Amino acid sequence: MARFTLPRDIYYGRGCLDELKNLKGKTAVVVIGGGSMKRFGFLDKVVTNLEEAGLKVHLFENVEPDPSVETVMKGAQMMREVNPDWIVAMGGGSPIDAAKAMWVFYEYPDTSFEDIIQPFSFPTLRTKAKFLAIPSTSGTATEVTAFSVITDYAKGVKYPLADFNITPDIALVDPDLAETMPPKLVAHTGMDALTHAIEAYVSTVSTCFTDPLALKAISMVREYLVDSFNGDKNAREQMHYAQCLAGMAFSNALLGIVHSMAHKTGAAFSTGHIPHGCANAIYLPYVIQYNAAYAPKKYAEIADSLNLGGSTEQEKIQNLCKMIDEFNVKLGIPKTLKEFGINEEEFLQKLPTIAELAVGDACTGSNPRPITPKQMEELLKCTYYGTKVDIQ
Ligand code: FE
Repeated sequence: MARFTLPRDIYYGRGCLDELKNLKGKTAVVVIGGGSMKRFGFLDKVVTNLEEAGLKVHLFENVEPDPSVETVMKGAQMMREVNPDWIVAMGGGSPIDAAKAMWVFYEYPDTSFEDIIQPFSFPTLRTKAKFLAIPSTSGTATEVTAFSVITDYAKGVKYPLADFNITPDIALVDPDLAETMPPKLVAHTGMDALTHAIEAYVSTVSTCFTDPLALKAISMVREYLVDSFNGDKNAREQMHYAQCLAGMAFSNALLGIVHSMAHKTGAAFSTGHIPHGCANAIYLPYVIQYNAAYAPKKYAEIADSLNLGGSTEQEKIQNLCKMIDEFNVKLGIPKTLKEFGINEEEFLQKLPTIAELAVGDACTGSNPRPITPKQMEELLKCTYYGTKVDIQ
């Protein structure tokens, strides 16, 4: 048996925040991040709409990027005090991810963080509240997924939480919010969305339910990402929908080792953070080469759906990699970790540990080709030096 889970309702289009006026409930806690949603007036709009619907509104503000266990527990405590029947999370991935985890500890105060680290082990939610998500960036698709990433800074570990219980009830996908993204964020989040769709399509647990969503997302990213990066409003709107389709696919088909590598290298180097989408964009062509022989038909199908040409599966896969390389150039994304600015000595010194951790990442299990720590070391070296992937 398999399962395919999505939000009950996805409202999309300019001005769909107005749908909040029809929400039935008593009390809402609105969870947001830094200032941008406030600055651009979207927070005001949300609060006014909720009040018009007759709800009492409480704010939980300033969720940090890469939200911490402490922030989650603080939010849950606040929710226990005001007792919301709606949790409304708005912003980039971070406030929405944090709010998903707050929801668990609001409904189950005696649960510990350790209890929910095991994937698909959550207690049944919706005994106290439902969840509505409003994304402002076009990449993570957390508004439709069963995932949340929370960081334990004391242990220096990122926990990817996974359970269909935290798939939101309602998503409002309003492209006006995505207008606020600076170009670099458009590039990184857009490549994150492309990676979600490609990894979901070739995943070992992809299905006939997830494949059409993934393919459509891939073709929309190809058509609209560069224009969106260059400021085209319609393209920005289409990318907001494309990333959501990709999210619907990967929430049910899971991901692969591009994400394993991005998770474990993102905060590994002293020279600074590698943004999630940027790391994915760098690794994606190398991982396709590594995986190619284990999912040739699927990668070729992606290339065919984009009319990339080629007469053999191998040629088609080469063309797909070429397309991704060209995208990265147009979006100003480096081709290697070296070019990104990672110090060679530090890279080589940390390589065995990172490789080991990446193999153990939750995303490795659904990758089409298995990988050992030794192979992962070699693969990561290819992404550092830009060498051809030829790993037995
Ligand atoms: Fe991602």
